[in-house]
Amino acid sequence: MMKRDEILHWLCEEDERRLETLWQLADTVRKENVGDKVHLRGLIEISNHCIRQCGYCGLRLGNKELERYRMSEEEIMACVGEAERYGYGTVVLQSGEDYGIETKWFANLIRRIKGETQLAVTLGLGERPGGDLETWHKAGADRYLLRFETSDEALYHLIHPSLPERKSNRLAILKALRKLGYETGSGIMIGIPGQTYTSLARDIDLFHRLDLDMIGVGPYISHPHTPLGQGDWKRMISKDEQVPNTEEMTYKVIALARIVCPEANIPSTTALATINRDHGRELGLMRGANVVMPNLTPMKYRVKYEIYPSKACITEIPSDCHSCLHHRIQSIGRRVGAGRGDRIHPPGSKPPLSVRDQNILDLIKKNENNKLRGSKIIG
Ligand code: SAM
Ligand code: SF4
Repeated sequence: MMKRDEILHWLCEEDERRLETLWQLADTVRKENVGDKVHLRGLIEISNHCIRQCGYCGLRLGNKELERYRMSEEEIMACVGEAERYGYGTVVLQSGEDYGIETKWFANLIRRIKGETQLAVTLGLGERPGGDLETWHKAGADRYLLRFETSDEALYHLIHPSLPERKSNRLAILKALRKLGYETGSGIMIGIPGQTYTSLARDIDLFHRLDLDMIGVGPYISHPHTPLGQGDWKRMISKDEQVPNTEEMTYKVIALARIVCPEANIPSTTALATINRDHGRELGLMRGANVVMPNLTPMKYRVKYEIYPSKACITEIPSDCHSCLHHRIQSIGRRVGAGRGDRIHPPGSKPPLSVRDQNILDLIKKNENNKLRGSKIIG
C-alpha cells in the first residue's frame, strides 16, 4: 500500500517524465485488476431541487436564478428504456437533496426498474435519512454515491454547512450504506479554495481506508452564483499550499485512487471532460479510470442541472453521446463492457456484509458470549 508521504510526493511532482511513471503504474494496476472494459452508466438527473446550501454548487437552495424541475415516473422510465436500448448495465439516478422525492414513491420506482429491466440501480440523492436508504435498498437499489468532498473537517463544514435540523456527517452515512449492503461510492472535488496538498493526500488515503467500491473525483469548477464562486467563505491558506483545480492534478488523483483502491470502479468524469473537451475523457481512462457516465437526462432538464457552468456534453442528444463515447473508448484500444460492471472482489476476499449477514454475525457472537457465560444457546 502506498504511504501517505508517497501520495503527497506524487501530488507535488511536476516533472513530466517522472509523472509518466505514475500514469503507467496506474494504467497497469487498472489493467491487472479491472481489465480493459469500460463500463457505461446511464446518468439521469431526476431533480435539481435541493435543501442544502453547499457553497460550491449551483443547485444550492440559495440560488434563486435557477429554474427548478423534478422528473415524473414516466419521464424517468423513458430514460431507463434508453439505457437498456443502448446496452448500458446501470442507471444512475442523481438529484439534489430533494424531499419532494418521496420515500415510498421512489421505492416503487426502483421496484419498477428492477422488475422491468436487468439494470443495476445506483442512487445519488444526498444525505437522506437511514430509513430511506434502507427502504430503497430493500426495493432493489444496488449502489449509492455520496462524495465526502474533503477529509479536512473545518473546510468541509465551511463549504458544506449543516442545516439546523440536519447535521452533515457524510462519513457516518457511508458506513451505514456499507452496512446496509449497498456498493458504496464516494469521492472529492480537487482544488476547492482552501484545500491543501496535505489534506488531499489524506483524502486519497481515506479512499483506501474506506475500501470504496466506487470513487468519483473531479476538479472544482467555480460557479458565479455561489459563495465560493463569488470569493466569499474564504479559508486563508498560503498560495503554495493551495491545490490547483487543474487537469493535471485531476489525473494525479485518478491515478493515485486507482493505485490505493485497485478494484474500485472509477469514472472519467464530466467535470474532467469540461476542462479538456478534446481528450479529457480518454486521458482519464488511460490514467486509471474504467467507467464513463453518458447523460440520459432529457435536454430540457439537463441545462437546468447546472452544478457548474459550461458543463461538457450539455447539448448532445443520447444517440450522439453514445456513439461519441464508443468512438473515444475504441480510439484508446479499450472496449465497452457488457453487463452491470459490479465491483470485482478477487478470490479469497469477501464482499461487504449486508444487514442480514451482519444480523446473523451478531447472533453468532451473542451465542458465543452466552456459551462463555455458560447460559443457554439461542438460535
Ligand atoms: N446532491 C447529491 C450530493 O451532493 O451528493 C448529488 C448531486 S451533487 C450535484 C454531485 C456532486 O457534484 C457533489 O458531490 C460535488 O462533488 C459535485 N459538485 C457540486 N458542485 C461542483 C462544482 N462547482 N465543481 C465541481 N463539482 C461540483
Ligand atoms: Fe445540493 Fe448536492 Fe449541490 Fe450540495 S452538492 S447543493 S447537496 S445538489
